[in-house]
Order: sequence, then C-alpha cells, then structure tokens
Amino acid sequence: MPAVTPFSDRASFPMKKLFLAGYPLPELTELLTPLPRYRAEQIFSRISRGAASFGEMTELPKSLRSELAERFSVYSSGVSARLEDGDGTVKLQITLHDGSKIESVLLNDGKGRNTACLSTQAGCPVSCVFCKTGALAFKRSLVSAEIVEQFLFLRKTASAAAGTDESGGGGSSVSNIVVMGMGEPLLNLKELRRAIAVITAKEGLALSPRRITVSTSGIAAGIRDLAENGPPVRLALSLTTADRELRERLMPVTRTNPLEEVTAALEIYQKKENRRVTLEMVLLGGVNTRQKDVEALERFADGLDVIVNLIPWNSVEGMSFEGRALREPEKGEFAFFTGLLEKRGIPYTRRRRKGRGVGGACGQLGATD
Ligand code: SF4
Repeated sequence: MPAVTPFSDRASFPMKKLFLAGYPLPELTELLTPLPRYRAEQIFSRISRGAASFGEMTELPKSLRSELAERFSVYSSGVSARLEDGDGTVKLQITLHDGSKIESVLLNDGKGRNTACLSTQAGCPVSCVFCKTGALAFKRSLVSAEIVEQFLFLRKTASAAAGTDESGGGGSSVSNIVVMGMGEPLLNLKELRRAIAVITAKEGLALSPRRITVSTSGIAAGIRDLAENGPPVRLALSLTTADRELRERLMPVTRTNPLEEVTAALEIYQKKENRRVTLEMVLLGGVNTRQKDVEALERFADGLDVIVNLIPWNSVEGMSFEGRALREPEKGEFAFFTGLLEKRGIPYTRRRRKGRGVGGACGQLGATD
C-alpha cells in the first residue's frame, strides 16, 4: 500500500496522484483522515456505482470535491479500444498510466449472465508455450486499482448493452469474475487480494467471493497462501497435462513447482474451503491428447475433488512447440480423449468457445504497444 498521507497535509502530499478505485474501504478511510468515515464510505460507494470523477459525486460539498480532485484521481487507466464479437463477447484494450496495455473480456452466456475476465499482469513471466500472453515480454504486475478498474469498465459495458443504470446500485450487471486474463494471479496475490476486497465489500459492489474464480498455472506457494489467508474464492488449475515430462516442456513453471507440490497445496485448499477444483485442460492437437495424458490425469486427480474443463486450443498465428506449429485438436482426437475420461468416470465439461473473432478467447489475449 502506498504511504498514507494525512488528508490535511498539503505540504507532504506526493506529486503523483493516488488512484482511489483500488483502495479497500479501511485503507481509503485511513488515507482520507481526518475526513469522517461516512465520507470515505460515500466516496467508496460512489466509485463502486460507476462515478469516474469527483465532479459526479454531487452529494459531497463542492469545496471537498475540488480538494479531492486536486490530490487524487478516481481511475488510473482508460479504455483505448473496444472490440465486439458476433457472439456477444466484448474485449476491452486498456491503457495503463505508464502506457502498458492489457486486455479484459466480457463474456455473455446468452441468458443474460455476464462474466468478467480480468488480467493481473502486463505480460506474463510464466511463458506457457501455447499462450499468446506468455509469448509477450513481461512488464509488471498490476496494482489493485488497475484490476478493479477492469471490472468497472466491463460492468459499464454490460450495463450499457442491457440499458440499465448502474449508478443507482441494486445489483450488478456482471455476476461472475474469472481471473483468467493476462498474467499469473498467484504471482500478484497481494494486489489481487486488495482488488477482491474492493469488489466484494458490502458497502460497494458486494460480489460474493464464491462468484470469483482464480486460475493458476500451479504456483504451489500461492495456492497454500490463498488457502491459509483467503479470500475464499474458487480455484482453477491450468493443468494442460499431468505427464510431468511433457508439462515441463509446455509449462516451464512445472520445473520450480513440481506437480507433487501442487497436489499437496490443492489438498490444503480443499481441506480449508471444501470446494471442488477445476482442472483446465487446454487440448493441443497431436500433443497432449494421448492415452498417456488421460492416465496421468487420472493419477493426478486421485484423492482430489475435481472437475475437468476441456478447452480445445484457440489458435494464435505463428505459435509453435519445439519447431512444430501448434494446431487445434481434431474432432477425432477430442472424441478419443473424452471417451477415455468417460470410461474412467472422470467428470468433465467442455468450455464454450467465445470471443475467438476478436482474439478474446482463452490463450489469445495479448495487447501489444
Ligand atoms: S496461460 Fe496464464 S500463466 Fe500461462 S503464460 Fe498464459 S497468462 Fe501466463
């Protein structure tokens, strides 16, 4: 958290403005001292309901609005492009205050339920070979404001599409969050935690943590930290394959986070949260659709409460694995894989393919400067 500057101390106020959208209420209250708590609550609530500037907070005295505007900004980032797919998926390209670009996606299930897919890093240091984000240079982790703002921008997009007014509060047009965008969330858990504290606060957006799913490539220490210190969100593991040797080549993170450590961490999480974990399997044609991969998956899942989510790879031009171009799985490969899962009684679902027309599907995110 940035150093807290007493509200009335102009002399020591830093030159750079602080961005209020990312402050959980207790931190905001402290930051705005000596303003009374109810003022901090008013500001927190108005930001949650979509106010993008202090000028919009007309319930505050004019002099206070001016003083706040002099010293703080509500947002740190802005939407620089909006791309809409024919299937209703909307991808936003967001420019951060330092010029870095990230992407966030609004997914609609066709029944009026919207899910926000959020990013936690600009680029990703994990470098999974099948992911466009992983091929980009890693810039930095996002701060809380940059994560919360993605949600607020997507919510504005959803409200505009539905013709609803979010400023009055009373239910959000986005009911679920998946932290599956750019970056490895558990390498940025501290700021993600602050962002989730903002998004779940009852004084503001009040989204249940049960409606938030965090997806990790398998950072064992991060899973343990999440289990021990919360928040109580749902967890997905991007497994891809449980064949150790192949996984080390596809997801180099496996070398420092062996699958046995990941399993042990998942056991701690399940003991604490008593929740089923999703195992995401990005299926790469001719690579991880073998019988051997299903057998390894079965061994990995043994003793855990899991559901497998199959994600046929979404193609990204120019991506290759050890000199061979990556390709989507053929129908036959997919049927072979699911047939083996069924034979072994491993529960699975297939992810609906959304947002491919705008490069907004799983593994396709990667804004460039
Ligand atoms: S799949 Fe996730 S963890 Fe792997 S490179 Fe892409 S963003 Fe990073």
